[in-house]
Amino acid sequence: MFIDIHTHLSQYNAQEIPSIVKRWRENDVELVVSSGTTINDSIKSIDLAKKYPDIAAGIGLHPSDITNNWKEDLLELKKILNENVSMISEIGLDYQDSSPSKKVQIKVFEEQIQIAIDNNLPIVFHTRFSMEDSYNILSNFKGNMHGGAVHYFDGSYEEAKNMLSLGLKISFAKTLIRIDYLKEVAKKISIDDIVIETDSYPQYFKKNRQRWTEPKDVVVVAQELSRIKNLPIKLVAKKTADNFKSFVKI
Ligand SMILES: [Zn+2]
Repeated sequence: MFIDIHTHLSQYNAQEIPSIVKRWRENDVELVVSSGTTINDSIKSIDLAKKYPDIAAGIGLHPSDITNNWKEDLLELKKILNENVSMISEIGLDYQDSSPSKKVQIKVFEEQIQIAIDNNLPIVFHTRFSMEDSYNILSNFKGNMHGGAVHYFDGSYEEAKNMLSLGLKISFAKTLIRIDYLKEVAKKISIDDIVIETDSYPQYFKKNRQRWTEPKDVVVVAQELSRIKNLPIKLVAKKTADNFKSFVKI
């Protein structure tokens, strides 16, 4: 059975959720994580986890969604934490030109890593054009973190090894199918260090609804991994699910 370790289920139309869940159940997906990007979105993820046994919740402030209200938001994040929260996610660093200031991003990232540590929770985080800073910041917490994963990994083998040295896993998405250097990274690192995801969110820019990525498509990522590593798909499913369960209590 497959586990999709990172999605934005909370952003879909509420009426759509039952059919999305039905489709992943038909495709042997046993668990899907809904990650929050803002306080509201995090609350929605918690509500989904309460409602469905095969949804786990992540709460967090996404670096691209940081506002001037970030101090209050961090306080609020601690308040909404309850037994339905499985991880602090989505957090991280995003160094695109349009992103909030690096200084604030780093502060908010550090604070949320600390919230995870204080509450015995893993982190699943985002890093765009910021692998080096992400690694340096995480290194300061080495030995204290409760595991986690770099989501939508798009770095080099060296960068993957650095993250692994911090006790984190590497999460591959559908980009594994089309990016050659990622296939090389996946080939070189152990299956014991890999988890899989779809990063699904409502893709309104795709007119054909059938073509939207959904958690059921995590199977396609597993198939690619099975091909690259020459391992049976059942083993890939079991290993990647076990790797997730090694850092998330469910
Ligand atoms: Zn995401």
